[in-house]
Amino acid sequence: MASTGRFDLVILGSGSTAFAAALRAQELGKTAVMTEERMIGGTCVNRGCLPSKNLIEAAKIIHGARHPRYPGLTPADVKLNFRELIAQKDEVIHAYRKKKYESLVDGQISIRKGHAEFVGDHMVQVDGERLTGERILIATGSRPVIPGIDGLCNVPFLTSDLLTNDGEPMEMWELPRSLIIIGGGYIALELGQMFRRFGTGVTMLERNKQLLAHGYEPAVGKTIAEIFEKEGIRVLTKTSVRSVRQDGKEIVVTTRICGKTSQLRAEKLLVSTGRRPNSDKIDIEKSGVTVGKHGEVHVDEFLRTNVPHIFAAGDVIGRDIGSQMATPVGSHDGGIVAHNAFNSDLRRANHRVIPRTIFTDPQIAMVGMTEEEAQAAGHKCWCSAVPMSLIPRAGAIRDTAGIIKMVADDKTEEVLGVSMVGNSAGEVIHEAAMAMRFRAKIQDFIDLLHVYPTMAEALKIVAISRFKDPAKLSCCAE
Ligand SMILES: Cc1cc2nc3c(=O)[nH]c(=O)nc-3n(C[C@H](O)[C@H](O)[C@H](O)COP(=O)(O)OP(=O)(O)OC[C@H]3O[C@@H](n4cnc5c(N)ncnc54)[C@H](O)[C@@H]3O)c2cc1C
Repeated sequence: MASTGRFDLVILGSGSTAFAAALRAQELGKTAVMTEERMIGGTCVNRGCLPSKNLIEAAKIIHGARHPRYPGLTPADVKLNFRELIAQKDEVIHAYRKKKYESLVDGQISIRKGHAEFVGDHMVQVDGERLTGERILIATGSRPVIPGIDGLCNVPFLTSDLLTNDGEPMEMWELPRSLIIIGGGYIALELGQMFRRFGTGVTMLERNKQLLAHGYEPAVGKTIAEIFEKEGIRVLTKTSVRSVRQDGKEIVVTTRICGKTSQLRAEKLLVSTGRRPNSDKIDIEKSGVTVGKHGEVHVDEFLRTNVPHIFAAGDVIGRDIGSQMATPVGSHDGGIVAHNAFNSDLRRANHRVIPRTIFTDPQIAMVGMTEEEAQAAGHKCWCSAVPMSLIPRAGAIRDTAGIIKMVADDKTEEVLGVSMVGNSAGEVIHEAAMAMRFRAKIQDFIDLLHVYPTMAEALKIVAISRFKDPAKLSCCAE
């Protein structure tokens, strides 16, 4: 007979969302149990944010040494030992996982290893044990979407799981000579540039007319494609993949570009065509919880599903209630779930301002709406884009690639969104996010004294472009 355990909060998953909820439940004096079928800590620490940012920085060091931006600096060849680099990545992950996840599991917070699935609306089963929860949180995250390309199931291919560790099959220990990437979203961009900088020949295939085709300003995808091409990445847009097959040691990809069929070859194939919520393998129907057409678990603004004592948060809710698949969103919402599960003064999940960054070089960062989204939301827009070459710091440090674009309501002048491609964009975007949180107007960005010369001045300069030509400014004059 199955053993049983009773908990205040039963959580499916053990990623950042689950941990945030478990810790908050603990603070409230409640017991919580998490479940995990892969590795404790989930995607971010094991095969997402942490390993990617570790390796991307190493690639940046190599690139910077080989291509110094300053005349007078001689290029230096940094030798790459790929296996050692992967081993140090695993070391960093292990230390981080231990400190930020494993060590936090104690008496009040426990974890069960194995695949969890519902057996009722208050009960989850994992590895023969039945866990009963007064409240339940679905935080099972997401996984790569595998498109239905002819022949794909007959060839070996990689997904973002190549960043994994601890003997999971896909972890990549040998640097490929050549790589075809299907997809032009943020993971494709980050990994594509990283591999190119390590020395791999990279071809990126995007079926839309530009990279980052959804949810970004068109100028962002265009700008980064130009930068990539200068680095030797082959970017093929408007390219649909017809089929793939293995030929000896190579993968052959048949594509259709502008009505013409052609074949591309590479040692490895990386499929990076988006992620889908993990809601389909947990017997969710036995809980009564409903999901949307992309597998996202539907929640209300208090993160409750249609079954009042069952909550969902993190990647598994997809873009429901304006959410995004990113670690800080899940962590923030996980805390809200635990609060709402055990208190009557319910907290709302507010997804109006979510800054996000793609860790390419230069970085891409954005917050709020694009011009198209603002118009669709009924705003008459004022929009302006300024090249990074007009930002004093960018010129001073010879790093002028990129643009910044501001979207504001033409009448109220409230800033509705900012997109930036440029050095330190991921840091700069926080000023815009904080300002938008307090519904700042164009003039607020101008009135704020900015440190000179910083990349954050880009915000002030793009705001000034509402009133005058930013190419004719002196130093930090407004
Ligand atoms: C390559 C890559 C780079 C990324 N970089 C960034 C970044 O720089 N910044 C950022 O903010 N975000 C980044 N992300 C996204 C980020 O990793 C996710 O948004 C975040 O990890 C989601 O957290 P979560 O807790 O909702 O889900 P997860 O962390 O995925 O946790 C869910 C866990 O549940 C487990 N699980 C699923 N089903 C079951 C089941 N039935 N039984 C038991 N266990 C189950 C899974 O194994 C998983 O461990 C990146 C993602 C990838 C793939």
